[in-house]
Amino acid sequence: MPPRGPGRGFMTEEEKQSVPKVTKELLVRVFSYLKPYWKQMALVLLAITVSSFFGLLPSVLTGKIIDDGLIARDLDALVKLILLSLAVTFAANLIGVLESYLNTWIAQHITFDMRNQMYRHLQSMSQRFFTSNNQGDIITRMTSDISGVQQVITSTFTSILSNSITLVVAVIAMYRKNWILATMGIIIVPLFTIPTRAAGKTRWNLTRESQAANDEINGILNETLSVSGQLLVKLFGKEDYEYGKYEAANRRMIDLNVKESMAGRWFRVVITTFTSIGPMLLYFVGGLLIMRYDADLSVGDITVLVALLGRMYGPVNSLLNIQVDWLRSMALFTRIFDYFDMPVEIKNAPDAIVPESASGAVEFDHVSFGYDESRLILKDVNFKLESGRSIAIVGPSGSGKSTIVNLIPRLYDVSGGSVLFDGTDVRKLDLGFLRENVGMVSQETYLFNGTIRENLLYAKPDATQEEIEEACRKANIHDFIASQEKGYDTEVGNRGLKLSGGEKQRISIARVLLRDPALLIFDEATSALDSISEAKIQEAIDPLIDSRTSILIAHRLSTILAADEIIVVKDGEIVERGTHKELVKAGGVYTELYETQFKAGLEHLAPEPPERPRPHRDYKLREG
Ligand code: ATP
Repeated sequence: MPPRGPGRGFMTEEEKQSVPKVTKELLVRVFSYLKPYWKQMALVLLAITVSSFFGLLPSVLTGKIIDDGLIARDLDALVKLILLSLAVTFAANLIGVLESYLNTWIAQHITFDMRNQMYRHLQSMSQRFFTSNNQGDIITRMTSDISGVQQVITSTFTSILSNSITLVVAVIAMYRKNWILATMGIIIVPLFTIPTRAAGKTRWNLTRESQAANDEINGILNETLSVSGQLLVKLFGKEDYEYGKYEAANRRMIDLNVKESMAGRWFRVVITTFTSIGPMLLYFVGGLLIMRYDADLSVGDITVLVALLGRMYGPVNSLLNIQVDWLRSMALFTRIFDYFDMPVEIKNAPDAIVPESASGAVEFDHVSFGYDESRLILKDVNFKLESGRSIAIVGPSGSGKSTIVNLIPRLYDVSGGSVLFDGTDVRKLDLGFLRENVGMVSQETYLFNGTIRENLLYAKPDATQEEIEEACRKANIHDFIASQEKGYDTEVGNRGLKLSGGEKQRISIARVLLRDPALLIFDEATSALDSISEAKIQEAIDPLIDSRTSILIAHRLSTILAADEIIVVKDGEIVERGTHKELVKAGGVYTELYETQFKAGLEHLAPEPPERPRPHRDYKLREG
């Protein structure tokens, strides 16, 4: 957002670097957002014109008050003129109110349109977009950048318009009085705004320097007054050193603050001096014209000219600054448009197929995939999962297990080969159909802030209480929920923080079950759960696997054993497949994983309790 105050007319180096090219296309695009509101904009234009004109009228009337009222000693005319002047001022202000209202209304509606359009667009962006872009940037684009547009419309556009109109009207009015003085005014005003700008620039630089010093001080404070920072300072005996650094930065800041404050004061001196030289020159030349050259000029005329001159400084100064405001605004629009122009990577095929029903069968046919072009994560992956059967995918951490399943609901599209769902390439299927039929419980369970019921209904808004309870029973979480004071209306807290990891997982299993997908993908959490939670999850998924087509990314032996077939992935390739017995016998990667990782998991399944309390164990698969 363009800063207000004396810094308005200047750009930082960073801003200068990113000045956009203002092309015809860009302007057309910007104006396309204004177009739906052209009627209101025409009204604003009219309001600005009338109010600028009315705003200048009192200055002109002052001349008449002096000449026709005071000097002519006509009380009647004087009263009338005074009343007229007051009425005009009042009318100008009233129109100003209308103008502000319309302006704000238009700006709000344009940003409303833009925000909605942007939100829709962002929703259609792929998972890749969200993993590779900083969340803060995305939110800034949605919030401050679009709010900046509002500012552009309410301030930059209107300021250009109203200042230009005021200037034109003022110049015309001046020329009608006296061309010599008018020409003088036209030369004087811009000439005298230049030193003002120079003073403004000095002040702006100082402000920025003092801001930088302030940031430095904050940095020092944050670093050295934090718990760990203080510990480091104490242990290394660096108190005096840090104090020295702080004192120096502090001193720099107070020096700059004094300078900045004085620059502000001098800035005012420069402004008042230069703006008062102009009128004096007009009085002098005007007086000269009357006294020496007998010009057709009255005292009132000179007063009018001086008043009009005074009204010109503001608009001229604004218009000199406007170029920077304008470029800033264009940079803002360019940034927003850059986002709009990002292609939608994963979208429905034009003639997408919507099958009647789904059986959940999956086939990977020579699939290769990389998150970016430089590095292939999956290489020639082939496997087939028939309807009603289940597959466990195992492998060391980072081998590509989650990546494989991400390709099924098209969170990403393959780089080579194809993924088939029910015999059809997923890219040809309707995305809505596909995602409705592929249920995924991911490693990181995400619950929205709300009640348990609200979170469950997210999957199926019209689910009945019976359906909800049935899903929760299957997911082995109903008893827990029922034991809560508020039952299904228990708040889960921000992101489900009020629940344990195991509870969250079971709720998210129930959530997927409510959808009743043809294919169930369960990405088992690698983080350690205690054995009771684990057993509960196990109890929940065992019957599910029996009853529907499923893919399990397994980190625990119990999960692996529940599947019909095991696929072993290493470095993005399927290196082994078979049943547990076959694979253990084969003595390959699986055996190694089994010996080092899964076997440990067997201990907590043992019937006898351990003799003494053990330290908490992490059963997760690590790089073998
Ligand atoms: P784990 O068992 O630890 O969950 P995994 O076998 O599921 O691991 P993946 O999550 O599929 O492994 O990751 C496979 C590889 O792809 C890893 O090297 C990882 O760094 C990389 N990777 C995963 N997600 C992304 C992403 N969004 N962008 C770029 N690279 C990624």
